Amino acid sequence: MVIDLLIIGAGPVGLFATFQAGIMGLNYRIVDSNDIVGGQCIKLYPEKYIYDIPGISKVLAKDLINNLYTQANLFDLSSRLMLNMQVVSIKKKSYQGHDVFSIQLNDVTNNKKRDIIFAKTILVTSGSGVIEHNKITLSEAKFFEDISLFYKVLSPMTFANKTVAIFGGGDSAIDWTKQLSHSSSKIFLVHRRNTFTSFLSSSDIANESKIQILTPYVLLNIEGSHATGEIESIVIQNIDDKKIMKIECSHILAFFGLKSKQSISAEDSLFNHNGLLDVSNITMESKSNNIFAAGDCCSYINKPRLILSGFHEATVAIRVIYERVFGHKTTIKHSTDLLK
Ligand SMILES: Cc1cc2nc3c(=O)[nH]c(=O)nc-3n(C[C@H](O)[C@H](O)[C@H](O)COP(=O)(O)OP(=O)(O)OC[C@H]3O[C@@H](n4cnc5c(N)ncnc54)[C@H](O)[C@@H]3O)c2cc1C
Repeated sequence: MVIDLLIIGAGPVGLFATFQAGIMGLNYRIVDSNDIVGGQCIKLYPEKYIYDIPGISKVLAKDLINNLYTQANLFDLSSRLMLNMQVVSIKKKSYQGHDVFSIQLNDVTNNKKRDIIFAKTILVTSGSGVIEHNKITLSEAKFFEDISLFYKVLSPMTFANKTVAIFGGGDSAIDWTKQLSHSSSKIFLVHRRNTFTSFLSSSDIANESKIQILTPYVLLNIEGSHATGEIESIVIQNIDDKKIMKIECSHILAFFGLKSKQSISAEDSLFNHNGLLDVSNITMESKSNNIFAAGDCCSYINKPRLILSGFHEATVAIRVIYERVFGHKTTIKHSTDLLK
């Protein structure tokens, strides 16, 4: 079977694209290499408020994703969604006299090649690609991971009344130091430089009595039980005078940034040297006919890397895709034409 459209990536933009595809009556599927929808919003900052979605004064990232899912499910998203599936290659094929795409999926749970999907068009909403956190490189770190050592905050309650060592110098480190200081008993903010690269400055939190800022320090050791994964203390070293310091704490949050890479290979090299797809912002089509892109993975002059821009780009792309698939412009103007 050849479907009308394959959407690659179920972040906020891919999810909204499925809603638009549903309105247009396209026969689509959507795949994501994660085990959960939501992209960066869920992987990186589920508990952070977003303030710049039009018409919503503030919304938690995880609630935005829930709402997008519910909205898209009006058009049966759940039966069209394939999680834990990574697109690895896109090839052009001829099928019954028509040009289609043959898309190879890889099951990330067992790293085995899975189905090939045949699609008339593709919308890439893969953000900056498959996202992974940069992790602590100490060999003992794996014993504590997801028990007392975390690379993101899934629930702030995990850190309530706890002594937490937060590592990092960017937005996430400072943001969470500030937010968790309300509920944690003590926070050590440890950074290897004396200056922070955050939109909030360290002076915004310096006067909070529960926060102690330690710079320029690096992590040398994590001490605790390898059997239970409970941390008892950490050892850090001052980069300047080499002095060593032991801190008693039960939890670590490490914000060392992310690495992500586009993992899709295609015959025409789809991605530019920055790992993005150059598109026309009139059609959202890439240099490959019938391959479109929206959201963080697309590039054009003055492209804002914001969720709301992705929503617009997906809407434009889906309307052009409709025209390609059905050979005429859509007559559907508003969602109320369909949803009463
Ligand atoms: C800390 C932080 C705070 C932010 N705050 C805001 C904010 O307040 N407001 C705002 O508008 N924006 C904010 N952003 C930016 C916003 O999160 C992004 O613009 C948005 O997530 C882009 O959505 P997307 O769907 O294009 O990509 P993503 O959210 O990156 O989703 C892409 C999805 O594609 C999947 N994928 C990638 N490659 C493949 C593949 N080969 N096969 C299958 N699946 C694949 C990934 O697993 C991922 O789920 C913030 C970003 C960060 C990091």
